[in-house]
Amino acid sequence: MSDINPFENALKQLDEAARIMHLDEGMHEVLRTPKRVLTVSIPVRMDDGRVKVFIGHRVQHNDARGPYKGGIRYHPQVTLDEVKALAMWMTWKCAIVDVPFGGGKGGIACDPKSMSEHELERLSRRYAYMISDIIGPYVDISAPDVYTGPREMAWIMDTYSALKGSISPGVITGKPLNIGGSKGRTEATGLGVAFCVREGAKKLNVDLKSARVVIQGFGNAGTYAAKFLKQMGASIIAVSDSKGGIFYDGKDGLDVEALIEHKTRTGMVRGFRNAREITNKELLELECDILVPAAYENQITKDNAENIKAKMVAEAANGPTTPEADEILFKKGKLVVPDILANAGGVTVSYFEWVQNLTRDYWSYEKVHDMLEGKMVTAFNDVYRTAEEYKVDMRKGSMVLAVNRVVDAIKARGIWP
Ligand code: NAD
Repeated sequence: MSDINPFENALKQLDEAARIMHLDEGMHEVLRTPKRVLTVSIPVRMDDGRVKVFIGHRVQHNDARGPYKGGIRYHPQVTLDEVKALAMWMTWKCAIVDVPFGGGKGGIACDPKSMSEHELERLSRRYAYMISDIIGPYVDISAPDVYTGPREMAWIMDTYSALKGSISPGVITGKPLNIGGSKGRTEATGLGVAFCVREGAKKLNVDLKSARVVIQGFGNAGTYAAKFLKQMGASIIAVSDSKGGIFYDGKDGLDVEALIEHKTRTGMVRGFRNAREITNKELLELECDILVPAAYENQITKDNAENIKAKMVAEAANGPTTPEADEILFKKGKLVVPDILANAGGVTVSYFEWVQNLTRDYWSYEKVHDMLEGKMVTAFNDVYRTAEEYKVDMRKGSMVLAVNRVVDAIKARGIWP
């Protein structure tokens, strides 16, 4: 874990973009400050009869381009500064993929692994009640994040609908399919990563059909990135999870479908047929064309950046590369596809889910897939062009593009009164 305060980090990124694009001071100040911050205390009757109070937050960073959008995180280490940073990053992510949303985020400091399903339901419903005055399908739309999923989204949607007296699926995305979820939402982040890798490979003149890909983390984002990259013709030569990594350099790389089956059965990637076991450190430094960090933050640091051999790093995870490592990779000519672009497939399909909820018109998987492809390819090229124009790396390019779009919207609407 980084000891840098995440909000300080988010502000530094914004300040750097502001410097590069000569942003005027007033606009810069507007963007540095979240529009609304709500902290609530959530009393929950636990299964043993005691009442425990949890602290939750909902931060609304900016809504110039549309309703606030962002997930809800349940984790013991949730802090207000973390939620503020995540809300700001959502503003940029939505602007990059050009969906009409601003940025928001929610979080509750709790340990969901030690709570029963009934306790989690009471926690989620009370939290939904406490923030119900400031959320809504045209105001602020939540989604899953760390340790929350379709089950929690269904409870929150149901509570909000009960309070407002009408069914309101558009108040939250990432819902189960039978109550308004979208086809293709589960695999959206990994598929978005694969589209970015494909576009990046074109820029580097790397033929995806002969490309060797290494993936760190084999959860939701990593598994689907592996699956779709394999479908696009790449060879996945190494993957890892929290229990260790595997490497197989034979023809066509790992059999991803069989590996998913192995992981589902045994709970780990280790022990997969014909593959050699490797450490996380070895995995990151393997000879390959494309590296996809899809686990946690701060994996590529000043200590290992010099040893990264991949030509492209596509950040499925949030914050896997430290700023020092970023500089080193840029100097070495590596193409880093930044997290706010590479993993934006999830929020893009969340937007599709919201559109389907508001229109009550549900789309086929093929339509979601094609629409996501269009959004991700356009976003990749917009960021690439901005980076070239400002002669910066793609991370800074993505920030400049996003800040520009948000500032344009603020200026068009004007400052009232
Ligand atoms: P997940 O919990 O499904 O998967 C995480 C994976 O990382 C697991 O396979 C875990 O075993 C592995 N892991 C943990 N520690 C590791 C280590 N030291 N070395 C190697 N692997 C390790 O989570 P996810 O939803 O796939 O999210 C992964 C990353 O992608 C996170 O940074 C998340 O914020 C980001 N992300 C995910 C989504 C999404 O829609 N799932 C969207 C945007 C960003």
